[in-house]
Amino acid sequence: MSQEHSVRDLLRELFPETHRELFGPDSNDAPPTLGLYPVADGRLALIHGDQLAEFTPLDPKGKNALHCDLCHYTRSRSEAALYRVMVATRRSRYVTLCTATEACQGRAGRQGLETLANRIFPLELPYTE
Ligand SMILES: [Zn+2]
Repeated sequence: MSQEHSVRDLLRELFPETHRELFGPDSNDAPPTLGLYPVADGRLALIHGDQLAEFTPLDPKGKNALHCDLCHYTRSRSEAALYRVMVATRRSRYVTLCTATEACQGRAGRQGLETLANRIFPLELPYTE
């Protein structure tokens, strides 16, 4: 399917290491169409269909517990982080997520990921075309 190919190509272009990790050198597994994937420097890539957004971790201010926007658990400072997502050229959104994203996505399930993706997408950035 062409949509799956475009995700693959986008990933390979933006995050070559993640692409290798997800698909392997000759993996026959179906490419992901929805999910969060750790990429370089503590960032996360959110993929939904042929759309991709990059989450950049920020240093959280204060000492309050964090509330994960994906699995909705309350997390300590060491278990979650605040991420910035550029949703348009001059606009960003802030999302709190568990740093252990695999377990977090397991708790949230596909429904939770869909909800998160619907908050982020569509982006209005030129590079997401
Ligand atoms: Zn979480």
